[in-house]
Amino acid sequence: MITVTGATGQLGRLVITGLLDSGVPAGEVTALVRDAARAGDLADRGVRVAVADYTDRASLEEALAGTDRLLLVSGSEVGQRVAQHTNVVEAAKAAGVGLLVYTSAPKADATTLVLAPEHAATEEVIRASGLPAVVLRNNWYWENYDAQIGQAAATGEVVGSAGQGRAWPASRADFAAAAVAVLTADDPQPAVHELGGDDPFTLADLAAEVGRQAGREVTHRDLSTDEHVAALRGAGLDEGTAGFVAALDGNIAAGELDAGQGGISALTGRPTRTLAEHVALVLGSS
Ligand code: NDP
Repeated sequence: MITVTGATGQLGRLVITGLLDSGVPAGEVTALVRDAARAGDLADRGVRVAVADYTDRASLEEALAGTDRLLLVSGSEVGQRVAQHTNVVEAAKAAGVGLLVYTSAPKADATTLVLAPEHAATEEVIRASGLPAVVLRNNWYWENYDAQIGQAAATGEVVGSAGQGRAWPASRADFAAAAVAVLTADDPQPAVHELGGDDPFTLADLAAEVGRQAGREVTHRDLSTDEHVAALRGAGLDEGTAGFVAALDGNIAAGELDAGQGGISALTGRPTRTLAEHVALVLGSS
């Protein structure tokens, strides 16, 4: 049995459908969800739906009974995730899971990335558990840029404070395919994979590509962190969110997302979605 947590989330759902599409029988797949009502389509396809919450250790142990391979999709409740993920790891150990796969962050144990500490702590919990584990240190999703792509096409500007910092994004579907490859491997070996797309990416690249496809000049305006926070506040973000978004751009400027190049295609054997392909999808010009 392969169990996927966060199965009503965007990545988890893609992993479930990817498993089915790759030929894993639906009866050998469990979707671990908080709300079964949102997994009706998966149940209709024959997937077992198990209800559990990362905060509820007993529900996790029950849901994981019979699981051979588990994908723990990192949670979305920032600040609570170490305790939550620890519950999942301990439940997996109690259930005798044979392989734990975890979605982490780039260079999690050696980075200033503001999102990384909870991932690094989770990786440490996994190591200490002794469970055979594969860590997928996922770089950025292309989808993180969807709003910026639309704004750039409308305003002629890409605004940020990431400088010339590089990331190696790929689509959620690409990251899901990498997880499917690991979960279905004949003999998966414990590993830490830095996972990213095939090509480097900067905000200047984004401006150029949106400009090309929108048929207008789009410039990249690089701001200081303070200017970026002010611009985000002006656009209606609260102070905490604006500071967080600007801090992430600062991390990118410092090279913290410059990792994972080609890591996905090395696992899947397929090229990842390009910037041009993603912009075309968002602008509806594909
Ligand atoms: P989503 O927010 O779509 O999915 C998160 C999933 O986690 C949801 O299914 C949610 O359940 C589940 N979840 C959250 N808290 C709990 C809990 N207490 N108990 C059980 N399940 C829980 O995010 P994505 O699928 O897009 O991304 C997956 C993860 O990757 C994110 O949660 C985050 O950790 C990380 N991420 C990575 C990014 C990147 O660019 N690499 C960008 C953004 C996030 P429910 O469906 O019930 O809400």
